Amino acid sequence: MGTGMNGDSQRSLLGSCPDCDAGLMGTDVLIQYETRAGQERIFAECPACRSVVHPAY
Ligand SMILES: [Zn+2]
Repeated sequence: MGTGMNGDSQRSLLGSCPDCDAGLMGTDVLIQYETRAGQERIFAECPACRSVVHPAY
């Protein structure tokens, strides 16, 4: 699973999973917000290990 050619939107790579190093895409984002310091924070669900992680850059 996971090799579909449909839906080309949100294919941008966010980063990689710090747990298993799988690539995290825009479609995996659960929450995106900005801290008071203006930093963008993202929680994404890793499609490979199903962990909720902060994407590593
Ligand atoms: Zn992972």
